[in-house]
Amino acid sequence: MKDYTRREFIRLATLMGGVSLFAGCTLLGSSESVPKYSEGAPGVDPLENTIGVRNVYTVCGACLGNCGICCRVAEGTLVKIGGNPYNPVAVSSPLPFDTSLQEAAIRSGAVCAIGGSGIQTLYNPFRVAKPLKRVGPRGSAKWAGISWDQAIQEILDGGDLFGEGKVLGLREIKQSGQNVGFLAGRADWGSLHFIRSFVDAFPGAVLLRNRDQMTEDIDKAAIQAVFGGGTGLVAPDYASVKFLLSFGDAPLDSGIPLVSIARQIADARVGESSMKWAVADPRLSTSGSKADVWLPVIPGKDLELACGIMRSLVDRYPSVKQIQDLKLKSMVESRTVAEFAGECGISHQLIDRVADLLVQAGPKSAAVPGRGILSGKDGITAAKAVYTLNTMVGSEPGTGGLIARTDGFLEEIATVKRAIKEISGSDKTKTMKALLSWQADPAYHDPYVTELLAERGNPALFVAIDTEITETTACADYILPDTTYLERYDICTLPASVSANGIGVRKPVVGGFDPEKGRYIPILPETRLMEEIVHQIGTSLELPGFEAPKNESGKTWSVQAYYRGMLAIILENMKSSGFRISGDSDEVEKVLERGGIFPSRSAVSRRASSSVPESHVYWPEVPPQQPLETDISDGFLLISYTLPFHRQPDSSLNSWLLEVLPENKLAVSSQDAARLKIRQNDTVTVSSPDGKIKTTCKAQVLPGMRPGVVALARGFGYRQSGAARQVIDGITQTADRTRGAGVNPAVLLSKGIRKVKITAA
Ligand code: SF4
Repeated sequence: MKDYTRREFIRLATLMGGVSLFAGCTLLGSSESVPKYSEGAPGVDPLENTIGVRNVYTVCGACLGNCGICCRVAEGTLVKIGGNPYNPVAVSSPLPFDTSLQEAAIRSGAVCAIGGSGIQTLYNPFRVAKPLKRVGPRGSAKWAGISWDQAIQEILDGGDLFGEGKVLGLREIKQSGQNVGFLAGRADWGSLHFIRSFVDAFPGAVLLRNRDQMTEDIDKAAIQAVFGGGTGLVAPDYASVKFLLSFGDAPLDSGIPLVSIARQIADARVGESSMKWAVADPRLSTSGSKADVWLPVIPGKDLELACGIMRSLVDRYPSVKQIQDLKLKSMVESRTVAEFAGECGISHQLIDRVADLLVQAGPKSAAVPGRGILSGKDGITAAKAVYTLNTMVGSEPGTGGLIARTDGFLEEIATVKRAIKEISGSDKTKTMKALLSWQADPAYHDPYVTELLAERGNPALFVAIDTEITETTACADYILPDTTYLERYDICTLPASVSANGIGVRKPVVGGFDPEKGRYIPILPETRLMEEIVHQIGTSLELPGFEAPKNESGKTWSVQAYYRGMLAIILENMKSSGFRISGDSDEVEKVLERGGIFPSRSAVSRRASSSVPESHVYWPEVPPQQPLETDISDGFLLISYTLPFHRQPDSSLNSWLLEVLPENKLAVSSQDAARLKIRQNDTVTVSSPDGKIKTTCKAQVLPGMRPGVVALARGFGYRQSGAARQVIDGITQTADRTRGAGVNPAVLLSKGIRKVKITAA
């Protein structure tokens, strides 16, 4: 990729869809002050502003939340991560863009526990510090450190690289037009477009999506089917929503971004709208325990619950709107509320109660499916059913219950079906000659991926760009050492749940800069930015748009220049869409300094009353007559869930988070524990019905579990990422067994197992 002129960059960005980014934005000024019930920002720590401590405003990358963060750097070392006071994801009343950096330094914002522990992601002792090539069979944990030149040359030219016969290099794969997959794990808007430019230029290359991106695809498809094409992602409009129905979702536990969503829910509960809340989840999560109604639905029966609520609406409220989807309509008509109640395990009475709450809130209802539904079997039908509950009571995006965010720039890249096929060993995979991955760990979620890569050796060449030897990269042929999100540039969109406009800008918080080459130098000097690696491969292969620089000035292509160019175009688009940005000449610099630009909050700003209504007794209703008995003779239904301070994959291994909870436990209901004579913290064996898969863990006996259901938190039980020994250049690297504590629920669930046997060990 050459050094772009402004005109060329505009053309490229247009081709990538970038110019349309802000086409629909308008300047919506609002100066309403926002009450700080839940700002999460105590006073400023004077130590944080000691002379010599530098504040660097950037964007967190530990999950998909894209919270604005403020990194305190002392003598080149990152010492603390807090929230960016300019960024509406980190604070409810962000500082105006023109506020000086000096003034901002005495303001603080909030981050979640994972975001705050990002220091340990940066200084992780298990980071890969130089290019590695496997010297044993795939997955054998034996590596040789090699130079960048050798790594790139072998990846391009192939040959008998591992003493196992000839492997095609990328050059020959390109010439013969065969397939290459690029699995982009944590790509944000800017980096995704960079990767897209590589994939588009490489004949036969396909961009593969990771699990989160695929559930987002399913969500978008359901939203478009129910609310019409052109609708992007939708989220509850916390400024005005009167009834929130969270299906298979626990926003206070696993919301993305966590702090922002928790803050908005807390404000909505105590605000003028006095939001009512129902949570459908077999486990009484923190969210369920703070809701008005807990619906302990049988796992996998969310569709039946949604249909039961629809049937209750149809039977008792003739004025509700028609169900448009014919398949759903006939399903709803096929059974009575009592029959649906029997199938989903929620009483007829409670189903009617939820239907009443929907009707009372009307257009200000928000029924939303969570990842538990979207990633389930036939998630799209269940998601369509949940969204249809809104339309039946007149709630559409913009009526006060839901808001829509248009993100046309995140265009469909590969269909969900194709992506699943390509990563799971379909016919197409047989023809995929090489796989490039960037910060993706599908093998943690699906051990079958390990089998595919390591045991079947498919595809023939696997190159991983990553910071660690993870479950997935452990099966790679080459690991090219990457930088962390705290040493990167990117353009980051705001999450759908935040009613604000703008973009976050990620930039390195530590490391150096080579002014001659215009190149950023990460803290581990042999690590490289993904874009540098892909750019070198692209120029070596002479891919269109990736020509080696030939300009007379001697300037070389740099990642910084690329993102500055992209940012300049975005700012230009914002201005032409009516945003006033600033009067300064160097706007790009100003945006970089502030970690993004957020020109205005939505005109629909939050209004909350100053007193907490007495009706808010934070314990949900579970009607006493509800029959919560389940036959466990043929086993327990196993579900997995996410904790607020332990998410998968990599960030959950930060030592501060492991100290909070070193290992996950099997959540089991008090009734079942009594029947099985299991007490708190007893060791139990969890096995598949045929007994072929077995694992042990401690029991967590809870009253807030649906009997017949057991649950394991995700983000534990790693087999790699520092939990296993590696031999590099003949030297055995010590493993940290604490990083592998607990059980990875995917070991059972990815095999299609839904029922497990539990016995006291
Ligand atoms: S929710 Fe937490 S981990 Fe996710 S982006 Fe925000 S601060 Fe980072």
